[in-house]
Amino acid sequence: MYYKSFLIKYAEIGVKGKNRYIFEEALVKQLEGTLKKTDGKFKVSRTTGRIYIDADGDYDYDEVVSRLKKVFGVTGICPLLQIDDNGFEDTASKVVEYLKEEYGDESFSFKVDSRRARKNYPMTSPEINAAIGEKILEEMPNLSVNVHNPDKVISVEIREHINVYSKVIKGAGGMPTGTAGKAMLLLSGGIDSPVAGYMIAKRGVVLEATYFHAPPYTSERAKQKVIDLAKIVAQYSGPIRLNVVNFTDPQLYIYETCPHDQLTIIMRRYMMKIAEHFAKESKCLGLVTGESIGQVASQTMQSLLTTNAVCELPVYRPLIAFDKQDIVDISEKIGSYETSIQPYEDCCTIFVAKHPVTKPILKGIEKSEYKLGEKMEELVKTAIETVEVIEID
Ligand code: ATP
Ligand code: MG
Repeated sequence: MYYKSFLIKYAEIGVKGKNRYIFEEALVKQLEGTLKKTDGKFKVSRTTGRIYIDADGDYDYDEVVSRLKKVFGVTGICPLLQIDDNGFEDTASKVVEYLKEEYGDESFSFKVDSRRARKNYPMTSPEINAAIGEKILEEMPNLSVNVHNPDKVISVEIREHINVYSKVIKGAGGMPTGTAGKAMLLLSGGIDSPVAGYMIAKRGVVLEATYFHAPPYTSERAKQKVIDLAKIVAQYSGPIRLNVVNFTDPQLYIYETCPHDQLTIIMRRYMMKIAEHFAKESKCLGLVTGESIGQVASQTMQSLLTTNAVCELPVYRPLIAFDKQDIVDISEKIGSYETSIQPYEDCCTIFVAKHPVTKPILKGIEKSEYKLGEKMEELVKTAIETVEVIEID
């Protein structure tokens, strides 16, 4: 059936006073942003604790719902029938008509849950529930009433219009993007970092991202994979500015100069430093990585301590206590898994030592880095200056 409107539900906990206004404004903006990318024409409006989407003409229902399901802050999406108030009899018969069209001769139990936002309506809520329930039973003998545990709740809201809905499609939850601040995601082509970005964005954080590549050791295809992953995350987080840093020369120089068992740690420290440079430049309040304790040698607590030591901004690691399978589950859910497992090398796999240190000591690492001297500063400066910025929409 064609739905002209949707009612958008959102959690209201902690969203009071001035915060509520900010929350709703941000949510409307995200909804408008995602709807603009469809073929349809829509109007998003906000009235007294409700957000409505009204379609102007035809649209692709499945596409619209799939997009709305990715907007953080939304808890439920209700395809909505809006009826003009032409008296109770008319309303009741339109509700029945709607149920017949939507559910045919399916059997289920229901209850009518009416609410009067307009208090001058001539019937009370319990009266409306009983009268509409009766009418439904009369005309749809397959249905039964169950007030305590119904299969479907048929909501009837008496407002300026009368809103009728019986389907609540689960939303993404979280907070609308733009209600928290900005963070810099270190985005690689792996499974973990897109999931980490998704999780932080879910708290309302705007994402920017940095990817380190090492041409010709890493291919154009590996870079394209990261762009594809950023696009997937951006379906939830909104637009992402992606900084692509050419890390070949610093990496080769570290490879020539430092003990090979320390390569990964030292490279990671420089990645963090460079990412932090861009983070500060664009007023990010923190860095985000996909690290998880003990997953690989560079993610032992000692390694994390050593990597963390170069950062001034807080480093958010939403996956820190997750098992790999749990991360895989989320990546499948958000749709990044298939892209993440494409077999294109990322820059770390080229330069990994056979036996990396698992318990690096900060003093030892700093001593090795000291040997890199001024030349390293020059290489880092060049890497920063030659950054390629890609705006992901
Ligand atoms: P992922 O699956 O996210 O690639 P991983 O298990 O491969 O993670 P590491 O290679 O140790 O783990 O990387 C840990 C984190 O460091 C990543 O989650 C990511 O945030 C960041 N990172 C690693 N390589 C890169 C890169 N080439 N560019 C940007 N960030 C990177
Ligand atoms: Mg990786």
